[in-house]
Amino acid sequence: MSVNQQAHTGPPYGQPQPGYQGYQQPAYGGQSLPGVPQAQYGAYNGPVPGYQQPVPPQGSLRAPPTSGAPPPASGASHPSGPLAYSQFEHGDVQNGIPASAAPVQRPPASQPFLPGSAPTPVSQISTFQQYGPPPASVQQLRNHMAGMTIGSTAASAPPPAGLGYGAPRPPAMPGPPLPGQTVAAPPSSQPNHVSSPPPPSTMAGLHPGPPMSGLHGPPPPTHPPQPGYPMQQNGSFGQMRGPQPNYGGAYPGAPNYGSPPGPPPPPKRLDPDSIPSPIQVIEDDRNNRGSEPFVTGVRGQVPPLVTTNFLVKDQGNASPRYIRCTSYNIPCTSDMAKQSQVPLAAVIKPLAALPPEETLPYLVDHGESGPVRCNRCKAYMCPFMQFIEGGRRFQCCFCSCVTEVPPHYFQHLDHTGKRVDFYDRPELSLGSYEFLATVDYCKNNKFPSPPAFIFMIDVSYNAVKSGLVRLICEELKSLLDYLPREGNMEESAIRVGFVTYNKVLHFYNVKSSLAQPQMMVVSDVADMFVPLLDGFLVNVNESRTVIASLLDQIPEMFADTRETETVFAPVIQAGLEALKAAECAGKLFIFHTSLPIAEAPGKLKNRDDRKLINTDKEKTLFQPQTSFYNNLAKDCVAQGCCVDLFLFPNQYLDVATLGVVPYQTGGSIYKYAYFQLETDQYRFLNDLRRDVQKEVGFDAVMRVRTSTGIRATDFFGAFYMSNTTDVEMAGLDCDKTITVEFKHDDKLSEDSGALLQCALLYTSCAGQRRLRIHNLSLNCCTQLADLYRNCETDTLINYLAKFAYRGVLSSPVKTVRDALINQCAQILACYRKNCASPSSAGQLILPECMKLLPVYLNCVLKSDVLQPGPEVTTDDRAYIRQLVTSMDVAETNVFFYPRLLPLTKADVDSDSLPAAIRNSEERLSKGDIYLLENGLNIFVWVGVSVQQGLIQNLFGVSSFSQISNALSTLPVLENPFSKKVRSIVDMLQGQRSRYMKLIVVKQEDKLEMLFKHFLVEDKSLTGGASYVDFLCHMHKEIRQLLS
Ligand SMILES: [Zn+2]
Repeated sequence: MSVNQQAHTGPPYGQPQPGYQGYQQPAYGGQSLPGVPQAQYGAYNGPVPGYQQPVPPQGSLRAPPTSGAPPPASGASHPSGPLAYSQFEHGDVQNGIPASAAPVQRPPASQPFLPGSAPTPVSQISTFQQYGPPPASVQQLRNHMAGMTIGSTAASAPPPAGLGYGAPRPPAMPGPPLPGQTVAAPPSSQPNHVSSPPPPSTMAGLHPGPPMSGLHGPPPPTHPPQPGYPMQQNGSFGQMRGPQPNYGGAYPGAPNYGSPPGPPPPPKRLDPDSIPSPIQVIEDDRNNRGSEPFVTGVRGQVPPLVTTNFLVKDQGNASPRYIRCTSYNIPCTSDMAKQSQVPLAAVIKPLAALPPEETLPYLVDHGESGPVRCNRCKAYMCPFMQFIEGGRRFQCCFCSCVTEVPPHYFQHLDHTGKRVDFYDRPELSLGSYEFLATVDYCKNNKFPSPPAFIFMIDVSYNAVKSGLVRLICEELKSLLDYLPREGNMEESAIRVGFVTYNKVLHFYNVKSSLAQPQMMVVSDVADMFVPLLDGFLVNVNESRTVIASLLDQIPEMFADTRETETVFAPVIQAGLEALKAAECAGKLFIFHTSLPIAEAPGKLKNRDDRKLINTDKEKTLFQPQTSFYNNLAKDCVAQGCCVDLFLFPNQYLDVATLGVVPYQTGGSIYKYAYFQLETDQYRFLNDLRRDVQKEVGFDAVMRVRTSTGIRATDFFGAFYMSNTTDVEMAGLDCDKTITVEFKHDDKLSEDSGALLQCALLYTSCAGQRRLRIHNLSLNCCTQLADLYRNCETDTLINYLAKFAYRGVLSSPVKTVRDALINQCAQILACYRKNCASPSSAGQLILPECMKLLPVYLNCVLKSDVLQPGPEVTTDDRAYIRQLVTSMDVAETNVFFYPRLLPLTKADVDSDSLPAAIRNSEERLSKGDIYLLENGLNIFVWVGVSVQQGLIQNLFGVSSFSQISNALSTLPVLENPFSKKVRSIVDMLQGQRSRYMKLIVVKQEDKLEMLFKHFLVEDKSLTGGASYVDFLCHMHKEIRQLLS
C-alpha cells in the first residue's frame, strides 16, 4: 500500500462518527495545572482556539494549586486493613526517638516472578583489530562531491613501536604533551603533495605562518618549532611511506613548502579548520532546516538534527522526538547491511515531552472490545493498514494477514480506497496516538489502582549531619502539592508514604484521623515486611497536617543519631512490599548516603580497586558484586515498583551494585558526591522537583513490531526483559529512551519499505491503563549510496555508545574500544569502496551524513567509561555508564561533544546564544570568558587576560585573582552582561533533564585540568587522541581495509 504521504488539512477531530467513541481530551477544560506537563489533547493540525494550553516548563516549582476542595473519595481499591496486616498493629508505635524493633510476622509471601531469561546478553564483538603502527599522514582536504575528501601523502619509515591507541600511554617522546599537536614528523622522506590542486584555503597544515594561537607550553626538546608548524609528537599517525604512484605530483606552489635535502622536512599538521567541524554541521542544519516545520507525511524522511529547533507536524509518522533512526533508508538485504556495517537502530522515547506548540497524542477509545488489531501479529490499527472489500476487512501492513473489521468500526471507503473517516481518526492518519486499554490489558484482569510514591530517607549520621535530612523534609512539605496529575483532575491521584532508615527501618502512619504521626520500627531487616497498611499510603490533602507534622519531626528525631551504618536492599524490599500490599504500582524515592555495610540482605563490601583498570578484570568494576539486586529488581518489575535513587556519597558506595534496581526498573540515579548544603542544595532540589513532577507511566511493557523482513533483535536502556521481545519497565518517565536494534530476517522491498510500530502499554499517573502507539515508515534501498545518504550520525553515536557501554560489562575495555573503531572503519571503508567516485586511495572520503562520525566516535572512545582519567572514580564510571544507557540523541550529542560558548561574544540585547565554537584549547582566547556544558556540568572558564570590567560585571570582584572557584552559582548583579550570562545559564538548564552543576574555572588554575578534559578535540591527558590524530588513524584503518 502506499504510505500516507499527502499533505492535508483535514477537519479537526471531534466530529463523532458512527461507531466512534470520541476522543477523550481531558485538558480541554482550560484549567491550568501547576507543576507538571499535562496530558492534554490539543487540536489536530494546528492550534484551535480554546484547545491549546501551553505546557508549563518542567523543573520549576509553580504556585500551589488553588483548589482547597476536599479530596474526592479515592477510586483506588485501597484495602483497608486486610486480616493479614491487622496483626501488625502491635508493632512498636511511637513518636519521637526510634525504639528497638518489634519483630512481627511476615505478610503472605509475594507471588513469584515470571520465569524467564536474564536480560539480553551482550552481543559478541566479532573482530578485534589491534592498532599497528600508523603509516600515513594526512595533508590535504577538499570537498569532493557529496563526500569529504582528504588527500594524503606518501610516507616512509616505520613509526616508533608501542604506540597503540587506547590505553593511557606514556608520552612517546620527551617533553610535555602539547594540546592540539599531531602528525608525526617524517624523519627521512620528502613530503609528497597531492594530486589535483586543492583550493589553498583547504590546504592543511602547510602554510607557513604564525603558530596556531592558543598553543601553550614549551616545544618538545627534540623538535624545535618551525614557523607555521605546530608542535608535534612522534608516534601518532602518519609516518610517510614514500611516493605512491597515484599521486599526480606536486600541486602548484609545492616548492614553497620546501623539501629541503638533508634534514627532515618540517612536520606536517592537518589544519583543524579543514576537517569536518561539528559546529559548522550544526550551524548549517539550523540554517537549512530550522525555519520550516518538519512534516512527517513522507516515508523515510531524515529529520533535522537534534541541535536544530524545529516544529513537528504529525502526518502519519511518529515525530523524531519519539523515534530517531540511524538510517531512514535501510538496505533491502541482510548482505548489504552486513557489508555496510551500519547498525540499524531506532532510539525511542515513548513518553517524550513536547514543546507547547505541538499536540500531545490523542486518546482513542475503541470501546469494550479494545483497540482494533491484526488477528495474527496483533499490530494495532495504524495509518498503514489497508482496508479492502469495501472496508469490511483490512490487510495488516506488518504481516499481511487479513482481519475482519469489527462492525462498530466499519466505515465506507472513498474512491481512492481510503476510509471516509480517515481524517477523523488519529489511528488512521497520525503517527502517534493512544488507545484506552480495556481490562484485558491489565494485570490479573483488574483495572489498576492509582500509583503511590514512597519517600525513603536515610537518617544515618552523615545524612543528618550534612543537613540533608532537614532539607529533604522541608522540601517535601511543599513538593507534595505538585505530584503528577492527569488532565483536568483537581488533585493528584497518587498516594504517598514515608520511611526513614539507617540499620533499621521506620515506617510512619500518617492517617488523616491521627493527631500525630506514629512510627513503627522494623529491625528484623533480614525478613522485610511492612508493619502497617492502613495509614501508610495516604492522600496528601487528607493527611496534610499529619504529614507536615511528621516532616517537622523527622529531623529532630534523628538530630543526635550516632548511627553510621545503613542497609539498602531491605529499604527497597519494604517499598516493594508496601506497594504489593496496596495492590498498586509506584515509585520509591530513596535518599541514600553510604555503602550498605550493616548486616542485612544485600550487604556490600568495599571492592573498589583502581588497579583493575586496563586489565581483563576491569569489567568487574561495572558489574554488581552480588546477584541479590538483580533478583530484587525482577520482583520490583513484576509489581511495577520503580526506584529512583538519590545518592550523596562521601566515598565509594558501589553505584554499580546499588544502581541495579533503579536501572532495571526504569528508574533514575542522581549522584551528589561530597554533598554540601550550601553549594549543592539548589541542584539537588531542582532535580528532585523535576523528578517528582515529571510525566511518568507505570507497569509499562513496550513491544516493537516490524514489517516482514526485519525484526527487533536487541535493546538498550533502563528496563528488564523476561523474554526476547517485551521491554518491561516498572516505571517509564518522559526522559527515558530505549534504543532498539533491528536485523534482517528476510528481503525487504523498495516498494513497500519497512515499518516500525512501537506499542507501550502503561498505567497513567491517575491509574488509567493506556497504550501509546508510535508508527514510523522507512525506505528500503538496493544501492548502498542511498543508505549512506539517509543516515543520522547523532543517532548512530547514541547506539554505538550504548553498545560499547554495555560491552564493558563482559569484555575488556580495550576490546570494546577496538571493536568500535573497527566497526566505524568498516562503515567508512564500505562507503569509500562502493559509493565514492574513484579517486586516489590516499584520499579520505567521508559520506556527507557521516562526516562527523570520526570526531564523535573519538569522543566516545575518550569518555570516562572507556578511558578514565585519574580523577574519575569507579562510582563515576558506573554512574555515567548507566546514565548514558537511557539518554536520548540530544543528550548523547552534547554529552560526548559538549557545547562551548564564548560568553564575552554574547549580544546582551538579543535573546540568542552566542555562536558555539569547537571544543579545543586552540579556540580559546585568554581575553574571553567561555561556557561549556555537557548535560551534567556547566563550566565557566575565565581567561587570565579578561578585562577587569567584565570580571566586575560577572563576578562582582575587582580582579581575576579574587574570583572564587568555589562558586556554584553566578552572583546576581544588575548589569546587562551578568543578566545575559545568567539568562544563558538558565536557558541551558531548562533544556536538560538534570540540573547541571556549575563550576567556575580560572585559566591556569588547578581546576582547569578538569575543564580541559571536556575539550574533546584535543589530545587528552589520559592518552585519548586529538581529533586530528584520530582522523588520521581512521584513515589508516580504512586504507588497510580497502587494500
Ligand atoms: Zn499483522
